[in-house]
Amino acid sequence: MSRVLIIGAGGVGSVVVHKCCQAPEVFSDIMLASRTKAKCDAIAASLPRPIKTARVDADQVAELVALMRDFKPELCINVALPYQDLTIMDACLECGVHYLDTANYEPRDEAKFEYKWQWAYQERFKKAGLMALLGSGFDPGVTNVYTAWAMKNHFDEIHELDIIDCNAGDHGQPFATNFNPEINIREVTAPARHWENKQWIETPALSTAEEFDFPEGIGPRKIYLMYHEELESLTKHFPGLKKARFWMTFSDNYLRHLEVLRNVGMTSIEPIDYNGQQIVPLQFLKAVLPDPGSLGPLTKGRTCIGCLIKGIKNGKEKKYYIYNICDHGKCYEEVGAQAVSYTTGVPAMIGAMMMLTGAWKGTGVYNMEELDPAPFMEKLNLHGLPWTEVIL
Ligand code: NDP
Repeated sequence: MSRVLIIGAGGVGSVVVHKCCQAPEVFSDIMLASRTKAKCDAIAASLPRPIKTARVDADQVAELVALMRDFKPELCINVALPYQDLTIMDACLECGVHYLDTANYEPRDEAKFEYKWQWAYQERFKKAGLMALLGSGFDPGVTNVYTAWAMKNHFDEIHELDIIDCNAGDHGQPFATNFNPEINIREVTAPARHWENKQWIETPALSTAEEFDFPEGIGPRKIYLMYHEELESLTKHFPGLKKARFWMTFSDNYLRHLEVLRNVGMTSIEPIDYNGQQIVPLQFLKAVLPDPGSLGPLTKGRTCIGCLIKGIKNGKEKKYYIYNICDHGKCYEEVGAQAVSYTTGVPAMIGAMMMLTGAWKGTGVYNMEELDPAPFMEKLNLHGLPWTEVIL
């Protein structure tokens, strides 16, 4: 029986609240707070049980502290934007509240995400006797747990890791992103970076592509090399990794639109003067693109996210693939959201469940792969994200 404060009433936040409501034995009291209270209230109205809602500007520590002192949660689930990670962590420290998020901190004025800012909270969380769980979405999140699971059960040494994220769904829109457009486009247009021979290799954004044959009828798709935050923590916590890469599929249509938007300067995060007002082109673009939350009823098809791992078991080379397939339409039927929000929101709920039930205990700042993967893997099967493993 626990009180949980969820911050962020977007696509992911809505799934987290729905899934927490399905487990009242763990999440007895829920508050959803966000910048726009009306969005919290609209989500609350669609739930099978009552929750509290509130308005909060999560950029303001004082507002967060006042809210936490009033509601007294044990845990705060941050599914606002990466810009709010540090202010929410500060407020958690001040109020004695455990912390969980799904994306690492990123400064607004620089498209650069790194764990260094949040890892710097290690001693403060330890001293306060609190736990901060970083990156409890799908990627990062489940992909970290898959890697830890493979290491624990299938390998003596892991040498190569390829995280492969496929969205084989179609929303029928000329151009839309499946999660927050600003964060998504900052990520996709950043240079690609992968780990090879103990160093980072940087290549231009979307310049390296291969074909991968996805399972269960999804078939061959073009995958593009990118940088993703879990590579930073996984290469730190599995120092035996010789190569670690992250790949994502994009449709030709998505890439064509992105190229034009980039060429005309619409993906820039440098503020420009427009009629005497400072505007950031990417933030303006976000305002005219479809809200990812509105794609739920439109999106058909499946996602497939998994880890392809090579290493050694009992002195022999081994190749292993573990993945989840998630159907956009089924997610919409269950919680009114498409699969990208679903595959992020479910692991956030399970991470919170791990912390609140004591299955995952600790003080300090943790990445997912540092904790025992077994209880989390069991809950994935029970709460909508079953996994399949294949020895290749
Ligand atoms: P949305 O843009 O749909 O939702 C973000 C929500 O946060 C909105 O409701 C927004 O409010 C609210 N918000 C923004 N700023 C503030 C603020 N200062 N104070 C209070 N609330 C604020 O994003 P998504 O739901 O798509 O994504 C949520 C998070 O999940 C992001 O951090 C994203 O990076 C992460 N993510 C992680 C993935 C993973 O696998 N690990 C995959 C996909 C996403 P308003 O409605 O008023 O704008």
